[in-house]
Amino acid sequence: MSSDKKIGKLPPWLKRRLGSGMTFNHTNSTLEELGIETICTHANCPNQGECWSRGTATVLILGGICTRNCKFCSVATGKPLPPDPTEPLRIAKMAKEMGIKYLVITSVDRDDLDDGGASHFRDVMLKCRELVPEIRFELLVPDFRDSQDKSLEILEEALPFVFGHNIETTPALYSIARPGGNYKRSLELLRKAKQRYPDTKTKTSMMLGLGEKDEDLIQCMRDLQEVGCDRLSLGQYLKPSKTSLDVVEYVTPEKFDYWRDRAKELGFSWVMSSPFTRSSYHAEQDEV
Ligand code: SF4
Repeated sequence: MSSDKKIGKLPPWLKRRLGSGMTFNHTNSTLEELGIETICTHANCPNQGECWSRGTATVLILGGICTRNCKFCSVATGKPLPPDPTEPLRIAKMAKEMGIKYLVITSVDRDDLDDGGASHFRDVMLKCRELVPEIRFELLVPDFRDSQDKSLEILEEALPFVFGHNIETTPALYSIARPGGNYKRSLELLRKAKQRYPDTKTKTSMMLGLGEKDEDLIQCMRDLQEVGCDRLSLGQYLKPSKTSLDVVEYVTPEKFDYWRDRAKELGFSWVMSSPFTRSSYHAEQDEV
């Protein structure tokens, strides 16, 4: 595989300004005071300046240590701590303090827990609704490896507006990018979620620029349509840490537009496709 150096410097469309201003500072201080983890910081997301300046952030629950070791991700791997029972209330307070009406919640993989962490997701949603009754949720969950049915049953007690699970890349690249994952298992989770919660939107995201082939990407879109997936996000993979996988290609904005059009043609009702798109980027937008 080629390296970042071989493909050259960041192209101009991938330059991003750092965050600043009153709303950014308020987001930062609220998260810090309440001790809330975000995927924005754990993943070194390039959109942090923009999102936090708009008063939004994606919370990372169940700790900052993951039981898997995906090569595109900068979240630490190891033995996680037990779920923190104070976390649901802290997140609910954050939602109230920041006036959040649409909250994206994600977690590390918790293969050490019987339900993969589903009951903690549920508890966070229920507690937030106590403090902010009108809040809507988008979940971005792990693949619930050995507990898909049980985990989906638990989440049904607090149904989100969007149920997201990321397939991340094409199956040909799983062995190098997502060795602990399984493409079919991920599709199966999306299928089961749609069957169980027909009124909830299902969503997935993929990173481009890892060396995926165009025909494989099209096949992924077909597979996702086959399992009833409603929403698709496509964004440029950017190496989040020195030890993460190298970028193979910087996909141009025009090619992202092309993929957006293809995805819409194939039947996705909501598609966000641009270099800076991430699963939670502008997730609250109803129309794209
Ligand atoms: S795109 Fe998502 S992860 Fe990135 S800064 Fe925005 S809310 Fe956070």
